[in-house]
Order: sequence, then structure tokens, then C-alpha cells
Amino acid sequence: MFPALLPTYNRTDVAFVRGEGSYLFAEDGKRYLDFGAGIAVNAFGHANPRLVAALTDQASKLWHTSNLYRVPGQESLSKKLVANTFADTVFFTNSGTEAIELAIKMARRYQFVSGHPERFHIVSFEGAFHGRTYAAINAGGNEKYLEGFGPRMPGFDQVAGGDLDAVNKAVGPQTAAIIIEPLQGEGGVRAFAPQFLRALRKLCDDKGLVLIFDEIQTGLGRTGKFFATDWLGFAPDIMTVAKALGGGFPVGAVLATAEAAKGMTVGTHGTTYGGNPLAMAVGNAAIDMILEPGFLDHVNKIANYMHQQLGALTAAHPDIFESVRGQGLMIGLKMKPSSTDFITAARANGLIVLPAGDNVVRLLPPLTLSEAEARTGIELLNKTASQMEAQKAAAQ
Ligand SMILES: *Cc1c(COP(=O)(O)O)cnc(C)c1O
Repeated sequence: MFPALLPTYNRTDVAFVRGEGSYLFAEDGKRYLDFGAGIAVNAFGHANPRLVAALTDQASKLWHTSNLYRVPGQESLSKKLVANTFADTVFFTNSGTEAIELAIKMARRYQFVSGHPERFHIVSFEGAFHGRTYAAINAGGNEKYLEGFGPRMPGFDQVAGGDLDAVNKAVGPQTAAIIIEPLQGEGGVRAFAPQFLRALRKLCDDKGLVLIFDEIQTGLGRTGKFFATDWLGFAPDIMTVAKALGGGFPVGAVLATAEAAKGMTVGTHGTTYGGNPLAMAVGNAAIDMILEPGFLDHVNKIANYMHQQLGALTAAHPDIFESVRGQGLMIGLKMKPSSTDFITAARANGLIVLPAGDNVVRLLPPLTLSEAEARTGIELLNKTASQMEAQKAAAQ
């Protein structure tokens, strides 16, 4: 019989029923330290009291009105995002991929109203992940996600990550925009050199192209700054945000300069649910927490501790770990044995970690992780690595 639940996921046989801070509890009562945070979503831990209060308070007042009316929560949250980033304007969505969809529409529309309707091509990078809508899978360029879904959408050109010559070759009279994750998440926690990102900025300025940063995973404190772009000293024209913005409540956003957004006039875009009062109540509380003095200091302190400890861990287990990569609390462990086996073994030890491309184990703990919890996580990684070494030795 065909499963009642569409089988597009190869799900692990564990169901979590409760969360508290950095810990998850399964149906059978087993406790797990969560170094996955719902893929960088539960940035404030599970059942964060301030987010729970914001949501329940709003839930008893008003859930939904439609974007035909003013939504005060959108007004306050957009002001906070504008005040603390390069952006002049914000549009709220329900998900990351919808933010990508709008970013692509906005970039094309910018060229259209600038007298360049022929410019609609989007340049993206190998290993990218931008979500699962039709435009997003075409921008992501992953064959596995494209196969069987009809012709590829016209206007997407993909080049090797970090290859400026290839970018220069791919950019032509039809190019509208370049889209890039400053630090690739799903692709394997792969960073781009700051000089490369800066060169993209210059290329976009020289040629009148729109630079889009996909900060859906890197944004909102994950790398130790409000956004990863804040490490670079320059900004994109459009930025997509989601994941941590709702701490688990579905919400995304597109941030843009007034110039990049100039084509998005009344009627050019819309959404039924995007930015609804529940999402905005949670989003406002989440942003308030990130912007509180000390929040990012804590992220950087824990991240420094983690990177230092993981350096020692990988040195101690050279047959298991190849290297540590990433920035802030977005960390990748490049594995020698199968990353899938390691993830399964870690889970048996009570530690949740995530897969990523390039045989990488990805660590995305809550940003509120304590140093004691970080130490526990390192110990569990160490235990898992030792077990795998012992198994390997026994098999020989
Ligand atoms: C998760 C993710 C997306 C897609 O977000 P959804 O909310 O799953 O649609 C897009 N880009 C990046 C970089 C992501 O990490």
C-alpha cells in the first residue's frame, strides 16, 4: 500500500515529542542533545520561554487578517531589520524558498524597470541550495532535485564555486543577478573566500547586476554576526532570510535596498499567509533577543570554544575526521568514514547532528548553547569517534 504520508523523506525512526533548551525528548523518553536545531531553525533552543510567551499571547488575540490590511507586527519587524542591516525594505514570506522566489522575481523586475527586459539570467554556484520551489531548484542546479520535473527553467547559469573566471564568462548581456550563500550549508559547510565575494560585489557594481545573498542558514547570528555579510564589510542588494527568524515558527523574509526593490510596485507580488500576526509576534521576539547586548558575544564565545575543542578532537581521531570547517556555530566536520554512519552512531549516543554534502557532518546547535552543553557535545562526538575506531580495528 502506498504510504499515507508521501514518502519523499527517508525518515529516521525516532519521533521527538518535547524539547527544552538544547535538549530533545523522544516518544520513548530518551534524551538527545540537539546539535541540529531543526537545521538552524531552533536558534533559541526548544520551548524558549520568550518565544512561547510571544506566540501564546498573540494566539489569544488574532491569528490572521490577510495582507489587504496593515499588520502592525510586520511594520515593527521590518523597521528593526532595516535599522540593523543594509536594507531599506522587507517582504515577509512563510519559508526560505518563497523568499528565494521573490528575490529572483525582484532582481528580474529591477532589470525590467531599468530598461533591460533582456536581462533575466541568474548566475548561481555548484553545491548551492536555495530550496525546493521550481525557480529555487533551477537556481540550486542539483540534478537530483531537477530530474523528472520537466524542462529546466530558462535563465539559470551555474558555475563552479570560487571560480571568478568562470563567473566572468557566465556573465553576459542577459545576466540580471548573481545569487550565492556566503557560506554554503547543505552543500557541505563550504565557505567562499572574502576576496571572491568582494569580487562578485565589484562585478555586480560594474555591470549593473543585482547581488543576492542567500542568508537563510547563515543569517541571524549563526556565524557570530547578525548576518554573515557583516563579516565582509559590504552588503548585497537583496538578502533572503528564514530559518532562525521564527525560531521554529514558519517565517521568511526578503531584505532589499530601495534601488533593488524599485520594480516591486503594488500588485507585483503577494502572499496569503506571509507575515501573519503569529509569525510576526515570534519574529519580533526573536530579533529582540539577537539584538540584545551580549547575545552575539555569547555565540562567538561558544563558537571559539567549539572550534578549539574540535581542532583537538580531529587531531586525536585522524582516521575519522579529515578537517573542521565553518564559521561561528555553523560547523562542518569533513569525515573519512561515511558521515551517515557517524550520524547514526552519534544519535545512539544521544547526540543529534546533521548530514551535508561532501561527506560532511554538520553541527548547528542552538545559539543559546551553554559551555557545559558544548563540552557534553564534544564528549559525545569523541565517544562516537572512539567507537568507530574500535569497530574499524575489530573488522581488520
Ligand atoms: C533551508 C534553506 C533554504 C530553503 O528554505 P525552506 O524554508 O526549506 O524553503 C534556502 N536556502 C538556504 C541557504 C537554506 O539553508
